[in-house]
Amino acid sequence: MLHALDIDKRDIVLDMPSDIIDDPFSLLVAVILSQNTSDRNSWRAFRRLSSKMGTTLEAISSTPEHEIEEAIRPAGLHRVKAKKLRALAEAVSTNYHGRLDSLLSKPTAEAREGLLSLPAVGPKTADILLLFYAKRRVFPIDTHISRISKRLGLVGEEAGYEEIRRRLEGIFDPDDYLIAHKVLIKFGRRYCRARNPLCEECPLRDICKWRAGGGGRTIN
Ligand code: SF4
Repeated sequence: MLHALDIDKRDIVLDMPSDIIDDPFSLLVAVILSQNTSDRNSWRAFRRLSSKMGTTLEAISSTPEHEIEEAIRPAGLHRVKAKKLRALAEAVSTNYHGRLDSLLSKPTAEAREGLLSLPAVGPKTADILLLFYAKRRVFPIDTHISRISKRLGLVGEEAGYEEIRRRLEGIFDPDDYLIAHKVLIKFGRRYCRARNPLCEECPLRDICKWRAGGGGRTIN
C-alpha cells in the first residue's frame, strides 16, 4: 500500500524536532497543543511556550497557569489547554515521580494503560508517544488517517479509534508503522482532503469505495 500512495519517502521529513522527541513530556505537550487546531497554530504556540518558559515537566509545574495560557494563545482553547498541561504535569509528578521513562519501559499494553490514565491523554496521544518516543509497534490514528480508512472502505463509516487502529496495524508491516503513519497524513493533506478531495489525481482512485459510490456522503 505504501508504494501505491505515490508519495516519495524523501518527502516525509521528520516533522518533530529532536528536542521534542527526546523528551516524552514535551512530546505530550506538543500533542495536547495540536488538539482542535492547525499544525501551524499549534507549532507557533509550542515555540512560544518553549522560548518563554520551556516545555518540560519542571517548566510547566513551576509556571503560573495564566502565564502558560498567554504563551499558548495561538493554539486556541488556551485556557482549557493550559489547565490540561498543569493537570498532566501534576499527575506525572505524583504518579511517576516526574519521570515518564519508567512507565514507557513497561510492556506496550501496560504502558498504554498507564498513559491513558493520565489527564488529557487519549488513545491518539498515548499512541503517538508510544510510536515516536518509545518505538513501540502501535499505529496512531489521527483525523486524516481515520477519514482515508473510511473512504477507502478499509473500515466501516462508523468505525471508532480502536477498530481503525487494529485494521491498519494488520495491513502494514510493524517496521513500517512510523513511515506509514506519516505517509498517510501527507496523503490526506495532498489528495484525500476533508473538503474537495483530489479524486481524479489520486493514485488510489481505482480502489476507493467512496469514489466508486459517487463521493456524495460526508466522511470528514
Ligand atoms: S479517490 Fe478520493 S476519496 Fe478516495 S482515497 Fe483518493 S482522494 Fe480520497
